[in-house]
Amino acid sequence: MSLENMDKEYVIHTYGRDYTNFVRGDGSTLFDDKGDDYIDFASGIGVNSVGHNNSDLVNALSNQVKNIIHISNLQVIEPQAKLAKRLMELSGYDMRAFFANSGAEANEGAIKIARKYGQIKFDNKKYKVITLEHSFHGRTITTVKATGQDSFHTDNFSPYPDGFSYESNIEKIYNSIDDETIAVMIELVQGEGGVEPFDKAEVQKLASFLKEKEILLIVDEVQTGIYRTGEFLASNLYEIEPDIITLAKGLGGGVPIGVVMTKHKDILTAGDHGSTFGGNYLSSTAGLSVVNTLSKLYKDAKIKETILYFEEKLKDIALKHSDKFEKSVGIGLMRGLRVKSSELLTQIVKNSMQERLIVLKAGRNTVRFLPSITITKDEINEGFVRFEKALSLILKKTS
Ligand code: PLP
Repeated sequence: MSLENMDKEYVIHTYGRDYTNFVRGDGSTLFDDKGDDYIDFASGIGVNSVGHNNSDLVNALSNQVKNIIHISNLQVIEPQAKLAKRLMELSGYDMRAFFANSGAEANEGAIKIARKYGQIKFDNKKYKVITLEHSFHGRTITTVKATGQDSFHTDNFSPYPDGFSYESNIEKIYNSIDDETIAVMIELVQGEGGVEPFDKAEVQKLASFLKEKEILLIVDEVQTGIYRTGEFLASNLYEIEPDIITLAKGLGGGVPIGVVMTKHKDILTAGDHGSTFGGNYLSSTAGLSVVNTLSKLYKDAKIKETILYFEEKLKDIALKHSDKFEKSVGIGLMRGLRVKSSELLTQIVKNSMQERLIVLKAGRNTVRFLPSITITKDEINEGFVRFEKALSLILKKTS
């Protein structure tokens, strides 16, 4: 039975899956079972932040798995405590962390913290959470409801939990707050929604308004966190102090991990929340290695250099192919090209794969680029040579 047939027979198909069989990776290059190389501009949807086969990460994990992979959260876990400390040092926030296994789970934790805060801190129960249109917060029943996209709220999975509403933009949030509102949850750069950064001044104004009204600001940094925007957290870049921040994707460099961190350190107490796997030896060791590698690169201004290089390349492409692209969007290494039609978008992603370049879609009209933070100039150059070829295939087809 071929791999493709096996997958089709035994795996539930919730993804439109490509059947290239990757067997090895090195930096931002992947190799398939035929030995062909692919440039990886997607890093597993923003996960492989230190690239593939990163020697520091591999060594840290190899050493750890020889000792302990997992015990449980009933015992203290040394790398977990160390990672929590490192997250606070690098972010500069005076918070505590709870460890989970994914972005959705981190967001669930954030909503639970907000809800308990709303229950115990006020005379009237506050439980409502406001989010934004085009947001994406996860696939569990609650985080799918928090996701501000109607298409996700089908009757197939209803009823959804109460207390979630979403607004089309930040300005509209102010009027939708009532005396049962406990939190506003936003991404600072909407990833799945089209790589759209919000205006810094607008976000800062919202943050100070919420603080004054004692409404919690939850920033979903599942995609923007861990140097993706150029700073350790996008919240650092926006110079705000959220009440709750969630992380996942890039933190584990490929090992599943999720974090909810909050300055309301004592809201959750024993028995309120838990996770069998959350922050175990394997994932915390991965997280520690990743943040240590990337914080060194940040200190040496290497991340900034990579961002500028990638940005220039994208701007050139947008200009050169203005027949296809409206503009280059995004921030840091979270980038997109706004495409003039959704058909064109599908073709570009497909042709890129044909040219052995992995890029992503965001929304209906954006080619998305989420390269590893450690991507080299050579890999960027090669990726864009392949991207040009993918674009020229469209020319040939339409001429
Ligand atoms: N939040 C944001 C901003 C995301 O981009 C994602 C995933 O794309 C999630 C939450 C959900 O994360 P996970 O798929 O790890 O549950």
